[in-house]
Amino acid sequence: MAAVATTTAQKITTTDIEESSSPYPHILAPLDLGFTTLKNRIVMGSMHTGLEDRFYNYGKLAAYFARRAEGGVGMMITGGISPNREGWLLPAGGTMNTKADVLNHRRVTQAVHKHDSKIIMQILHSGRYGYHPFSVSSSAIKSPITPFKPRKMSIKNIEQTIEDYARCATLAKEAGYDGVEIMGSEGYLLNQFLSSHVNQRSDEYGGDIYARMKFPLNVVRAVREAVGSDFIIIFRLSMLDLVKDGNVMDEVITVAKALEEAGVTIINTGIGWHEARVPTIVTSVPRAAFVDFTHEVKKHVSIPVMASNRINMPETAENILAQGQADLIQMARPFLADPDWVNKAKTGDTDRINTCIACNQACLDHTFQHKRSTCLVNPQACYETELVYKKSKKPQKVAVVGGGVAGMSAATVAAKRGHDVTLFEARDVLGGQFNYAKVVPGKEEFFETIRYFTTELAHQGVTIHLNTKVDKALLDDGGFDHIIIATGVVPRSLAGRLEGAELPQVISYADLLSGKKTVGQTVAVIGAGGIGFDVSEYLTANHGQPLHELGEETLKDPDYRPTPQPIEDWREEWGVTLDSDYQTDGGLVKREPITPVRQVYLMQRSAGRLGAGLNKTTGWVHRAHIKSHGVIQISGVQYEKITTEGIWITNPQGHSQLLRVDSVVVCAGQESVNELMPNVADAPNAEYHLIGGAKLAAELDAKRAIRDGAEVAAAI
Ligand code: NAP
Ligand code: SF4
Repeated sequence: MAAVATTTAQKITTTDIEESSSPYPHILAPLDLGFTTLKNRIVMGSMHTGLEDRFYNYGKLAAYFARRAEGGVGMMITGGISPNREGWLLPAGGTMNTKADVLNHRRVTQAVHKHDSKIIMQILHSGRYGYHPFSVSSSAIKSPITPFKPRKMSIKNIEQTIEDYARCATLAKEAGYDGVEIMGSEGYLLNQFLSSHVNQRSDEYGGDIYARMKFPLNVVRAVREAVGSDFIIIFRLSMLDLVKDGNVMDEVITVAKALEEAGVTIINTGIGWHEARVPTIVTSVPRAAFVDFTHEVKKHVSIPVMASNRINMPETAENILAQGQADLIQMARPFLADPDWVNKAKTGDTDRINTCIACNQACLDHTFQHKRSTCLVNPQACYETELVYKKSKKPQKVAVVGGGVAGMSAATVAAKRGHDVTLFEARDVLGGQFNYAKVVPGKEEFFETIRYFTTELAHQGVTIHLNTKVDKALLDDGGFDHIIIATGVVPRSLAGRLEGAELPQVISYADLLSGKKTVGQTVAVIGAGGIGFDVSEYLTANHGQPLHELGEETLKDPDYRPTPQPIEDWREEWGVTLDSDYQTDGGLVKREPITPVRQVYLMQRSAGRLGAGLNKTTGWVHRAHIKSHGVIQISGVQYEKITTEGIWITNPQGHSQLLRVDSVVVCAGQESVNELMPNVADAPNAEYHLIGGAKLAAELDAKRAIRDGAEVAAAI
């Protein structure tokens, strides 16, 4: 057997800190692994981009990784690559089984090494999460999130799979990878063996933790034997299963110690199985909500331990390392949002970091739709070779009308390319609809997007005119070559459509979420789209300060940030243990009941479940939230009229019914504002472009708006 690597978690020394001129010396300190050195403590975690599944996309995959390596990250981990067919996540997913695979992957490793970064290939066997009929697991128990019942692995099958892991790792080494990560968390195959939640075997691979960890440990030993001692092996260990019959912390520690013994170089953190009913990465999860579990494991091993989950800004990462809670920080989505994250932290340009807002809309939701990942706030992510911002050879005079995210995206990209850009905004603040989203409890990250674009507009030298309602004459007189209309949307008013909609107790979501108006103790919300849900959460949440108390001026202050929900509160709300040395199965405890601050009725005219159209990876969290906040949900209603008593509806049973409410908030979608867009017959002097909500209000979508802006500006 190959000698076991003897890496120990290296303490960050005073010299490391003194040598750094950055405000974040701990995250930038190198880490000596004995046989190789990581240049800093920041690791880009594994993400499935969709590019790894097809050989013809490996050029794009190489460009994607190279761009992040250029941005200064110390080490990156690829999306999951299966060691065999049974382990596929999706049919014909990415593989590393043959010499042809080696050649494809070599394009990636070579591109990364040019920029002095390290790249690790993740070996992921999906087990019962495999979306295909060949899936296998420790026991033949179907997962609640896949339609296929897995086959129970025989001993021969287990032994063959161990060989497959070893072969896959050997090929990864041949392809130039600096190491492999063995995926043992998030409810995938090895986690299915480690935990009694699925492992109900009575042979040598089932029973107590020593038997349940036998297969994962044998995988590690076989991989170490195959790759030798000078190759990084990361094991991603589930530190908190968050499922019934999940492991307790003592068992997690037992596995961690055995992994160290078996030759693992670094232990990475996994939190929650994919089927867990506790959110682990969405935006309402407080930053660094699970770090104390990583810290607990770190106390019991001497190899480096990596923290993860909802870490997206340098201050958070720096604090974790400075307090000795972990040795490395893994962030995944923040590198989709900003490939230059590390270089910006190095120079102290934190305000220029394009922060991942943990929305999942363009990354994880795309994965579930079998679409290529990208990023809502950075449409170049995974499109590095296609959406290119080349310097313009013939700089133009460009006007952008509207300072919402579509307009800010267009103005930033156009100016970056060398155009002379002027941005006009009718209000006294930039950010458009994001100003409403940012005040919803659990959506505090939306402040960061406005901060990023505002900083970037200044950095790129865009001239900004706030409080400027643009008319045709202003545009005609401005001598612009290009005019980008990004005037957005207005909330759909029901005045003239529903009797009583003009009454003072009937307000739009915009008036509510800008702090202009407030509501009483009982409220009816008309419209159960994303905004109806947001408003219901805002009205019932018992944390955060009411906007009418804060006042509009506070909300406009660029330095103001609301206090997010404290981690302890959030854990109590979702039933996650407060004890890092927990003895409850999977770390689950009884949820603390919420006392909502108002009674809310949320309604829609369509039949069926409310929130059915919300996004796959976040919708369930919103639905669970409003349920626990006591929101009464009614679908299939007809609105009859609003009176001073409340709102009259025809309920789904066909009866007229009065809901006695103090206030009604209208969340009935939006209408485009695009009257500045000329007709062809007007023969305008400039070339006009219509983008974002101004172009299409239906399914008003920040992802489309930001991409629209970037694409138009990239083409000028
Ligand atoms: P939306 O999703 O289109 O929902 C509009 C709601 O208004 C629907 O429930 C619709 O239901 C109702 N409605 C439409 N016309 C109406 C009328 N004339 N009278 C009464 N009710 C009417 O729009 P949104 O909620 O404003 O959201 C806008 C966009 O932002 C969406 O694309 C959404 O996905 C996104 N967003 C998402 C989230 C999230 O995921 N959490 C949060 C905020 C925004 P009925 O027609 O059945 O009554
Ligand atoms: Fe983060 Fe949203 Fe971008 Fe995904 S799409 S990387 S969650 S900002």
